[in-house]
Amino acid sequence: MAEKTLFELSSPGRQAWSLPKLDAPPVDAGEAARSANELPELSEVDVARHFTRLSIMNHHVDKGFYPLGSCTMKYNPKVNELACRMPGFSSLHPLEPETLTQGALRLMYELAEMLGQITGFDAVTLAPAAGAHGELTGIMMVRKYFEKRGEQRDVVLVPDSAHGTNPASVTLSGFKAVQIKSNAKGEIDPDELERACSSCVACLMVTNPNTLGIFEPEAKRICDIMHKQGSLVYLDGANLNAYMGIHRPADAGFDVMHINLHKTFSTPHGGGGPGSGPVAVTEALEPFLPKPVVKHEDGKYRFDYDRPDSIGRVMGFHGQFAVLVRAYTYIRMLGSAGLKDAAEAAVLNANYVRAGLEGVYELPYKDRCLHEVVFSGSGLREYGIKTLDVAKRLLDHGMHAPTIYFPLIVPEALMIEPTETESRESLDEFIAAMKQIADEARTNPDVLRQAPVTTPVRRLDEARASRELDVNWQPTS
Ligand SMILES: *Cc1c(COP(=O)(O)O)cnc(C)c1O
Repeated sequence: MAEKTLFELSSPGRQAWSLPKLDAPPVDAGEAARSANELPELSEVDVARHFTRLSIMNHHVDKGFYPLGSCTMKYNPKVNELACRMPGFSSLHPLEPETLTQGALRLMYELAEMLGQITGFDAVTLAPAAGAHGELTGIMMVRKYFEKRGEQRDVVLVPDSAHGTNPASVTLSGFKAVQIKSNAKGEIDPDELERACSSCVACLMVTNPNTLGIFEPEAKRICDIMHKQGSLVYLDGANLNAYMGIHRPADAGFDVMHINLHKTFSTPHGGGGPGSGPVAVTEALEPFLPKPVVKHEDGKYRFDYDRPDSIGRVMGFHGQFAVLVRAYTYIRMLGSAGLKDAAEAAVLNANYVRAGLEGVYELPYKDRCLHEVVFSGSGLREYGIKTLDVAKRLLDHGMHAPTIYFPLIVPEALMIEPTETESRESLDEFIAAMKQIADEARTNPDVLRQAPVTTPVRRLDEARASRELDVNWQPTS
């Protein structure tokens, strides 16, 4: 099932176009034309088939179920693509004057407003390019906030269930990350927090619902404990899909959060595609937002650069604009009632999977979950089967594997996030496949160790691509 490169498929003289015979004297187009001669020569059908074959070799959300926990791989409505490809948006240059870009500025202004309404915060920046970049931006703002107040605080508390990007963002912005242990239910223990929080703590980074898919029942108390010490609370909002339209984090007392537009608001991601990680803040943090900020005055939209306390720029231009258009379209198409429906269906679907697989795989945290559920494959160890084998076998069923070995506090973790866009039929198919795999582990474990057998490539060395990066194709002749 290997696919040759376009260079290997090339045949001299083949072309995808035919132009009328030149009726003017030829000119030498120089070096550019000579290097164009080294490009592959193919007919249009060669090109179309090559890319179609490539597109179906890989798994993607248009092809099948994609329950990759923590990533919200929901279906991306095609109307989002239609909107962001309108020439008025797609041909826009970021240096065009504001008089010619009022529509784009209005879209940014309104998107920031809508995100403020959804989360309950006072101000939003759309600049950060991904969730992790949003974390960094938010933590830099926290830093600036304490600098401005003349307070020396160098610690950020991070629960042991946190996403790996949390401690990374903390360290990168010059703070010291201190881990706090979750309780037996996988939640933050307010008493433990009370002990850990002191006047050297700048903030706590919370993911809610946490990476076990469990809503922190004490979110408000947690914020109160931190505020009593003058500390702030950062919310990792990557899981906003579980409660948009239902709960506004600012109401619980959070001070700053990032939003993953590419997850919650349905823009294609994965495989290194572009993302967007807006950051929402309370009034107290507003002066520190990155510049520029879009303002609306006297019926006109403009960029405001005159922000003396800003942390500065975090992007070359104004954020991932095409992702902003997609998210804007998604929100406007659904409206507030639609967003709430989507969140409720995401939670229902995850609980449907939880109920369907309870007893088949171990469920270390038994509470009802929100938008994702974490099982453990450790019950299969006695047959010599690892979670990795289960994940590989799912590929033979034409489904993407769940996230595995994360969160770290669950051994042999299988983190499943079905999202709201899956039908009951596709959830049933997934549950049946997972049951069959658990049976195979007992009766024919070798099948699992050999899996996958139906994919273009079998088991890959998990680390080699990063250790020996080689992306340069060389002709063999
Ligand atoms: C995805 C995710 C992030 C990071 O977001 P990116 O856009 O991938 O950088 C951070 N925290 C949580 C909980 C996530 O799920």
